[in-house]
Amino acid sequence: MTIIDKRIFDQKRLIPGVSGYWEVVIGMEVHAQITSKSKLFSGASTTFGAQANSNVSLVDAAMPGTLPVINRECVHQAIKTGLGLNARINLKSVFERKNYFYPDLPQGYQISQFQKPIVGEGKITISIGPDKDGQFEDIEIGIERLHLEQDAGKSIHDQHSSMSHVDFNRSGIALMEIVSKPDMRSADEAKAYLTKLRSIVRYLGTCNGNMDEGSMRADINVSIRRPGESFGTRCEIKNVNSIRFIGQAIDYETRRQIAILENGGIIDQETRLFNAEQGKTYSMRSKEEVHDYRYFPDPDLLPLEFEQSLVDGLKNALPELPDDKKKRFIAEDGLTIYDASVIVTEKAIADYFEVIADGRDGKTVANWVINDLLGALNKAKLSIEETPVSPEQLGSIIDLIKQGTISSKIAKELFEIVWNEGGNPVEIIDQREMKQITDINAIEKIVDEILATNQNEVAQIGEKPTIADWFVGQVIKATNGKANPRIVNVLVKKKLNLLYDSMHSNIG
Ligand code: ADP
Ligand code: MG
Repeated sequence: MTIIDKRIFDQKRLIPGVSGYWEVVIGMEVHAQITSKSKLFSGASTTFGAQANSNVSLVDAAMPGTLPVINRECVHQAIKTGLGLNARINLKSVFERKNYFYPDLPQGYQISQFQKPIVGEGKITISIGPDKDGQFEDIEIGIERLHLEQDAGKSIHDQHSSMSHVDFNRSGIALMEIVSKPDMRSADEAKAYLTKLRSIVRYLGTCNGNMDEGSMRADINVSIRRPGESFGTRCEIKNVNSIRFIGQAIDYETRRQIAILENGGIIDQETRLFNAEQGKTYSMRSKEEVHDYRYFPDPDLLPLEFEQSLVDGLKNALPELPDDKKKRFIAEDGLTIYDASVIVTEKAIADYFEVIADGRDGKTVANWVINDLLGALNKAKLSIEETPVSPEQLGSIIDLIKQGTISSKIAKELFEIVWNEGGNPVEIIDQREMKQITDINAIEKIVDEILATNQNEVAQIGEKPTIADWFVGQVIKATNGKANPRIVNVLVKKKLNLLYDSMHSNIG
């Protein structure tokens, strides 16, 4: 038995079968639409949702005599993405024709890159966890390549009973195909990989990562093997368009392949589709071979060449990426790995956090952003861009707690008011008399009243250990949560001690 994998198989990722364990192997090809105003080889607009066939130039429609001209911006975007994937940038790459017929492909071929892609090998790090001990595991996933290619148009079959329609708006839009190595070993790793990839391109501004608009689509290659053995035959699940579906598709596909092999069958290498309603994959076609496409260099385009200085310039202008941000938040703002990971998943969340954390305690701000803000956004199905509570408002709420003006319990109520009604938190607590009561004499009066009206409980002093907490709770309740809990605590304990002593000296 030879272990050909750089990752020694890992017990906790193995899947039990009828006769021993299996390991799943996953590699992903992701099509990411480049953020650019115009298409890869034409000046037509890339606006999403435009009227059908309104963003189509003569080049996109493959009119005779037209010629493709490379869009410089798309090349820059691909280089930036390659840099974000820690990958080698190839100063010379070649566009080739991938030949096939389909009604949504007017040229009869797709211009793509094959033997010489613009970006070579790279890697990204995914973080899996936390496990039950709160630990995270960082895993490196290899990138095989990134190449530039044209998108196809879209066939529409549900507009007419006997005819199909085709919309060429998408044809010729620039895509980056990002191919991973077969380095993933579970559905969780595959989901983490795509999440990380999406986060990186969004930080870079090279792809908007919107999977539901089709701006990012994943083909997932899945095979299984006995731990330590060589790779098995893979099936490719095409165009999965959400991260949740990726997990479901892999789980289903793994079970399907295990059942076949355990029943003495063999896996056909094929292309499959995932049906989200049924949660199943089904066969679409047997796998095409590379030679079927008769790739050859496109005679209309020169090899793509640029200088190292262009790469260096783009590299110097790269924004801070999630991994670096995470390290900085841990080192400088005192965040835990978990908190930092959550906050950097989206650039907009990290930006929001940074506005508030400036001059405030990072850990406190992270708690509010993660538990309260993200929790509420999740519940309301809103994105961070749509948040009703601005960083300035949340910052002001946090300051009010720090100054002792409100308790953290009241702060939660204040957050809800700001969420629902907007407004300046400082003015709201004034208008609604939500300020914390810190006046010792005022609190003492209330403590005395509560003691006087609860003689049964007073009798339990010294017998029931929780009685002090009960009195603290009553006092806070009597002030609608506004009494400063620290002061209430001290006063209640002092009074109970006095009462206890006097009760015992009476008996004695
Ligand atoms: P193609 O375009 O024919 O699908 P590639 O050779 O570029 O071909 O591979 C596509 C993807 O399949 C890559 O992401 C790679 O990591 C993955 N892959 C290769 N072998 C396996 C395997 N045995 N199991 C799972 N994934 C695999
Ligand atoms: Mg493929």
